[in-house]
Amino acid sequence: MTRATILGAGVAGLCVATELIGRGCAVTVVDPAPEHGPHACSWWAGGMLAPFCEGETAEEPVVRLGRKAADWWARQGVPVIRQGTLVVTLGRDRRELDRFARRVPQHRRLDGAALAALEPDLGGRFERGLHVAEEAHLDPRAALRHLRERLSQAGAVFASAPAPGAGLTVDCRGLAARDVLPDLRGVKGEMAVLRSADIRLSRPVRLLHPRFPLYVVPRPGGLFMLGATQIESDDRRRSVRSVLELLSAAYALHPAFGEAELVEIGADARPAFPDNLPRLSRRGDTIRVNGLFRHGFLLAPALARMAAEMACDGTTPELMHADHG
Ligand SMILES: Cc1cc2nc3c(=O)[nH]c(=O)nc-3n(C[C@H](O)[C@H](O)[C@H](O)COP(=O)(O)OP(=O)(O)OC[C@H]3O[C@@H](n4cnc5c(N)ncnc54)[C@H](O)[C@@H]3O)c2cc1C
Repeated sequence: MTRATILGAGVAGLCVATELIGRGCAVTVVDPAPEHGPHACSWWAGGMLAPFCEGETAEEPVVRLGRKAADWWARQGVPVIRQGTLVVTLGRDRRELDRFARRVPQHRRLDGAALAALEPDLGGRFERGLHVAEEAHLDPRAALRHLRERLSQAGAVFASAPAPGAGLTVDCRGLAARDVLPDLRGVKGEMAVLRSADIRLSRPVRLLHPRFPLYVVPRPGGLFMLGATQIESDDRRRSVRSVLELLSAAYALHPAFGEAELVEIGADARPAFPDNLPRLSRRGDTIRVNGLFRHGFLLAPALARMAAEMACDGTTPELMHADHG
């Protein structure tokens, strides 16, 4: 039986551990933090599984590989909500909607009535919108808690430091792997969580804006995750300007957000390579999975499958990259 040590219990590490244990490996997951929490970039994610909307700016592999993510999460027993994504814009930014529609052909155009039928609480607020039906979302913190529990039940060991010994190592340390991946960089994302009993949404809503694009992802318990800035920086401070922009955009989406409870403000740096595509690399018995950028929950399942196939079947995956570490 192959012994595998996974470094990092973020979304990358837990997806790799799940794929390897499913192939009969003896898996140890090592992370200095005892639980999933704010130390990990995965903690701050919105949980959108939106390959087509992301394809507006992301490259083709993100769309193609991301299409399978919702099924993967559902197969692990994670509740996946398949209501698609709603895309809207304020009246003065109409051209943004047309530009988005050209770049994301998987949409259906909505007039005001169709939009109100889809999201009644936004009825009367927007004359047009786009529905990208084949997209989904999940609660990312609950999803990772669920993967940890499943892995433990299947015999995976969770440890704070690696035990000495031979075997495969899969390095999924996110931004901490910059010690061996010199072109890995941080891209800051700030977010907020609001609670409101006055507004209900069934799906993520993207508000297009030339300067402050916003998305709102509904979560159980009347919570809404607002995201996210995208700033070339690995500092994790939450700036007043970014928070103001996020909250103002939410208020523009629906004034009821003005009365919402501000539950949380957070920030982290997304691990990204220069082309913003994820990579696998291998040196000896160490495989590295990193660079998930904006797409940790969307792409970790595909990357994990590739890493497991590389480890168990000796295949060379498409996102394989030379290891200069
Ligand atoms: C605001 C925001 C919103 C986002 N929204 C989405 C979204 O809607 N959909 C989506 O798909 N993606 C989203 N993302 C992106 C996603 O969060 C990241 O791509 C993903 O979290 C990266 O996961 P990771 O496992 O590589 O890194 P991390 O989650 O950072 O995990 C790395 C782990 O390695 C551990 N570690 C560090 N050093 C060591 C060591 N020496 N040994 C062992 N372990 C170590 C850390 O403790 C940590 O637990 C968002 C990101 C942000 C910031």
